[in-house]
Amino acid sequence: LFITFEGPDGAGKTSVLAQLLPLLKQQAQKQIIETREPGGNPISEAIRRIILDPKNTAMDKRTEALLYAAARRQHIVEKIRPVLAADKIVLCDRFVDSSLAYQGSGRQIGISAVAKMNEFATEQLTPDLTLYLDVPSKLGLTRIAAHRQEQNDRLDQEALSFHQKVRQAYLDLAKSHPDRIKIIDATQALTTVIADCQQMIIRTYPA
Ligand code: C5P
Ligand code: MG
Repeated sequence: LFITFEGPDGAGKTSVLAQLLPLLKQQAQKQIIETREPGGNPISEAIRRIILDPKNTAMDKRTEALLYAAARRQHIVEKIRPVLAADKIVLCDRFVDSSLAYQGSGRQIGISAVAKMNEFATEQLTPDLTLYLDVPSKLGLTRIAAHRQEQNDRLDQEALSFHQKVRQAYLDLAKSHPDRIKIIDATQALTTVIADCQQMIIRTYPA
């Protein structure tokens, strides 16, 4: 079972996942492995540092998209595929939908071009379920400003219009893949968002 978590900046993915994981571990029959993108292994974490380094202002948007896909590829081969093959549950913080939203729409490379590139990287590996934590862009940005942890990451400099493109792409993706992508209202209190995520997972995949 492959479950991914998606959302614009400030949706609260990280906080939700941290508290959701122990709840799911209590009730699941299978072992749960949590991981994140870009990262999850030394090669992909090294690629992550290149992508997020504030000194890399010269990075071309297609270079960036390729690096995300390369990190994803290595993550799939080293971790996601073996864990799924062992019949465990994978919870992944971001996956291909992030690239479609951020690089395809936010950076305006085009969703279909980015989708094609990612088919090469994933060989069609698709999540069984995607929880999309939705938050209006302004609220997301306000939250980040209030408690930013990854100080100065290169992507923190983007304008409101960038984040609005990202969010709209996510909403469009959810509309085109209603069976896979479930929208969670992430404007709610953290405990409510966590409860909604838990319910959605149980409803879709009863233990
Ligand atoms: O999910 P997380 O907050 O760790 O992502 C780190 C940064 O990378 C965020 O600022 C996010 O906007 C950005 N990102 C991106 N394109 C992706 C995935 C993440 O620009 N495909
Ligand atoms: Mg962030």
